[in-house]
This record gives sequence, structure tokens and C-alpha cells, in this order.
Amino acid sequence: MSFSSMALSAELLNVLSELNYSEPTQVQAEAIPAILAGSDLMAGAQTGTGKTAAFALPILERLSQLKSSQTSYELTPVRALILTPTRELALQVHQSFVRYGDGLTLKSAIVYGGVSIDAQADILKAGVDILIATPGRLLDHLRRGSLTLTQLAFLVFDEADRMLDMGFKDEIDAILKQLPKERQTLLFSATFDDGVFNLSKRLLKDPKLIEV
Ligand code: AMP
Repeated sequence: MSFSSMALSAELLNVLSELNYSEPTQVQAEAIPAILAGSDLMAGAQTGTGKTAAFALPILERLSQLKSSQTSYELTPVRALILTPTRELALQVHQSFVRYGDGLTLKSAIVYGGVSIDAQADILKAGVDILIATPGRLLDHLRRGSLTLTQLAFLVFDEADRMLDMGFKDEIDAILKQLPKERQTLLFSATFDDGVFNLSKRLLKDPKLIEV
């Protein structure tokens, strides 16, 4: 399976060739077609397997299609939310969305704790398509009303096991209450324990399973 046979737009294929990604990694080969087809996903994949592009590329593809079919660009509700356990991972994931989305008109933003909340709130109020967030700070923003997630189409858990290990279960539950039921949910985790299984059982509908 090559990237060019995956129903990705010319803009995305261009970026991949600039980056010298000559062929998809295993998790990408399995995840990208499934996500484009609308499936939920449960993927066991460590850092270094190419897991970020495995969810970022199909999300960018689907959201740019959605945006080009809209008549008004005035409102930019958050369509994709990527939850990460740490600021460092959030920054890496955000960089990937910016890099891969270079030829597209989608806006991405990042929120994490330990820094001023006001500047982040201003960016959110201006409208973003893709939001990368750590759970605690995202919840602060939801409580302040800096954003709503009622139009969400994609929810991604990146490193779900670490998120639960770090004690974010209550924050995750509070965030989930604010999300629409009709959405695609993608769960990435390096390991699978009871906590991750419970989360996946609760959230995923007929998911495609991937183990790399
Ligand atoms: P990740 O597992 O998402 O942290 O990605 C690990 C590294 O692999 C990153 O530096 C990516 O830029 C790189 N990478 C991702 N997909 C590919 C690919 N298909 N070909 C070559 N490098 C890739």
C-alpha cells in the first residue's frame, strides 16, 4: 500500500514527498484507510512507529473536504480534538499537524497548563479546526466558555495509557460529557491494561483493531 493509493489530496501527498516519506509505516497503512472510511480505531503503537501521521493525515484530509463543502468560513468550530498526557507530546503533535497541513487552510491550536490561560482563550475564540490539548487545561477552557465542542467530528486519545497513569480519568470523563455522541473516536496506546480497555469499551463503536 502506497500513500498515493490512499485517497489523500494532492496537497498532502506533496508534503509527504517533501518530507521523503516514501511509504507508509505499518500503523499508517492500516489506520489511514480505516479512518478515511469512517471507522473508530483502537491502535497499539509506540512512539516512533509513525502513529502521529497515522491519525493526522486522514483527519486533515476529512476536515479539508468538510471545510471546502461549507459555504461560510465565518464560524470555525473545533472539529478534531487530540488529547495528550503531556505538554511535550502536545507540542510534537501540534507541530505535525502544522507541517502536514501546510498546503491546507485548516487552523490548529494547542492548549496546555502551566502558562497563561488568557492568550490561549483568545486564540480559541478566534476559531480553530483542530485542537491539541492536555486534559486539565482543556477542562479549564470548557468551564470558562472559551470554546464549545458540540461540532466535534474526531476525538483522538494519544498515549491513552499514560493519560490514565497520570490520573486524568476524572478530567477525561468531564470532557466526554461535553462531546457529541456522533463522532469518530481513535484511541492510541502503547500498552493495554484494564483502564485502557474500559475506556475503549465505553467509547469505541465497532473499532478496527491495530497492533504494531
Ligand atoms: P511518531 O511515531 O509519530 O512519533 O513518528 C516518528 C518519526 O517517524 C517522526 O519523526 C516522523 O516524522 C517519522 N515518520 C512518520 N511517518 C513516516 C514515514 N511514512 N516515512 C518516514 N518517516 C516517517
